[in-house]
Amino acid sequence: MNRRLYSPRYVREILNRYGFRFSKGLGQNFLIDGNIVKGICRAGEVSKEDYVLEIGPGLGTMTEEIALNARKVVAIELDEALLPILDETLKGHDNIEIVHGDILKVDIVDIIEEKLGGGPIKVIANLPYYATTPIIARLIEEDLNIDSIVVMVQKEVADRIVANPGSKEYGSLSVFINFYTYPEVAMEVPRTVFMPQPKVDSAVMKLKLRRELLEVDREVFFKVVRSAFGKRRKTILNSLSSGELNLGKDDIRKVLEAADIPFNKRAEDLKVEHFAKISEILPPLDI
Ligand code: SAM
Repeated sequence: MNRRLYSPRYVREILNRYGFRFSKGLGQNFLIDGNIVKGICRAGEVSKEDYVLEIGPGLGTMTEEIALNARKVVAIELDEALLPILDETLKGHDNIEIVHGDILKVDIVDIIEEKLGGGPIKVIANLPYYATTPIIARLIEEDLNIDSIVVMVQKEVADRIVANPGSKEYGSLSVFINFYTYPEVAMEVPRTVFMPQPKVDSAVMKLKLRRELLEVDREVFFKVVRSAFGKRRKTILNSLSSGELNLGKDDIRKVLEAADIPFNKRAEDLKVEHFAKISEILPPLDI
């Protein structure tokens, strides 16, 4: 067991020895603070029965901490140059499996079935910021057998995810994440705990996946949400009748009346349930 994985000196030493160069494109900012690493694992409430999927292990710093608490960890890393490093840093742990691949492309159903006991699994990830939204979207939209996702995101993204209706941060991302999960901010993370330091602060979010989703046609629902927030300064009557729904004002007026939503409300005033009501009542859309 290597207890120095989060020491800046050790990180520098190992990176030099392997001639490793950080890739900005892959969002490589490695954690160098043991308290944060432990805090992330605590947020995941990982116990010895749990199978965990980690995305982007980097040098294996969190992987090791998770492995000490979990039954098994499968970690998916895209950067080939990190594989020999992970062999060294995680040597001696028999409950870790590294998979070389892109989380946006690997067969997650197969990994859960073949390597993670069939689920429900826990996901822990300190993601490259460039791909945060597509990666989270893939994990929550595909009806995978996932219990919860603990994920590091930019502070500003966390603020948008947990924003309440009526606030300026509230938008389609808040509705999207709240449709599929119960989100909460587990802890705030300053930029100083990474090597190299990113330009922004971060937050660790816990997304507990909803077992029961609202019974709506999801394609219609998210069309309504996109259309409403596409012109968020307009009233809901105007934004829905000028967006991608291709319906005129008369139709939208009838829908809003039936849904009991005043015409002069704005997208940012509406809760997930309001968007669901609108999408249930809408005349059949040509999609
Ligand atoms: N978990 C490590 C830590 O906390 O120190 C590293 C976190 S770093 C922010 C992101 C990691 O994700 C890097 O190791 C990077 O190579 C990897 N990565 C980037 N894009 C990826 C993708 N599409 N699939 C899998 N891993 C990816």
